[in-house]
Amino acid sequence: MSFRRPCVLSLSGHDPLGGAGVHADIEAISSQGLHPLTVITALTVQDSRNVSRVEAVDPGLMSEQLQRLEADCDIRAIKIGLLGNPAQVALAVDLIARLRVPAVLDPVLRAGGGRELAGTSLETAIREQLVPNVRLVTPNAAEARRLVGQAPDADLDACAQALLAAGCANVLITGGDEPGAQVLNTWYRAGAAPCRYVWPRLPETFHGAGCTLASAIAARLAAGDDMAAAIQTGQSWTQSALERAIAVGRGRRIPGRH
Ligand code: PLP
Repeated sequence: MSFRRPCVLSLSGHDPLGGAGVHADIEAISSQGLHPLTVITALTVQDSRNVSRVEAVDPGLMSEQLQRLEADCDIRAIKIGLLGNPAQVALAVDLIARLRVPAVLDPVLRAGGGRELAGTSLETAIREQLVPNVRLVTPNAAEARRLVGQAPDADLDACAQALLAAGCANVLITGGDEPGAQVLNTWYRAGAAPCRYVWPRLPETFHGAGCTLASAIAARLAAGDDMAAAIQTGQSWTQSALERAIAVGRGRRIPGRH
């Protein structure tokens, strides 16, 4: 009998402020009773307002780290956030094929503060290689439109259908970056009507909300929830973390995850 604690493996960037990236993943995954394994994709320079530099980690080093964790740990789900280059995308695709556990992709293309986080070749690799291979992709509205090459005001239902047609099983488009008194998130899957979730819009702006949500959902999937339950619980837990948000800098607040 194994007494090993089930794990969620996170491939994410390091945000020294502790709002997004690997800190968000560790806290969100731990909150759900799973153990977080973290393979860092990039070091960043940022504060609570914006990112100014991203330095990708050597994919060879990441590959060595993955080999050791895969041989040692009981990995039940994968969460993928910021990726540093197309070679890291290939690494993530191979990992998903080997492990055959649910993978949740938060397609990080641009920081909330405006800094571009994915050049054209990385964005193309994410769209063409990773999106078709994950169980769930969780873009915000801007990322969903970008991933399918649509204009900034394109209809989100149409974008989601294009992502499903590209081979992704489930798409959760979050609406925190859209205008409106409420935040509308929508879960799309093939052969079913879209499932819409409405959340009160909180007065502040946040840094790290997307990472927190994707990790919480990955952890719920790792815990054995079906997709509907994982999406519901991931959102409600993230909403309460946003209600408890804390200020650690002078800019945006970060989710209060513990
Ligand atoms: N830094 C890292 C490492 C991230 O993963 C992300 C987003 O996922 C960001 C910065 C930007 O976060 P936000 O858009 O919430 O400011």
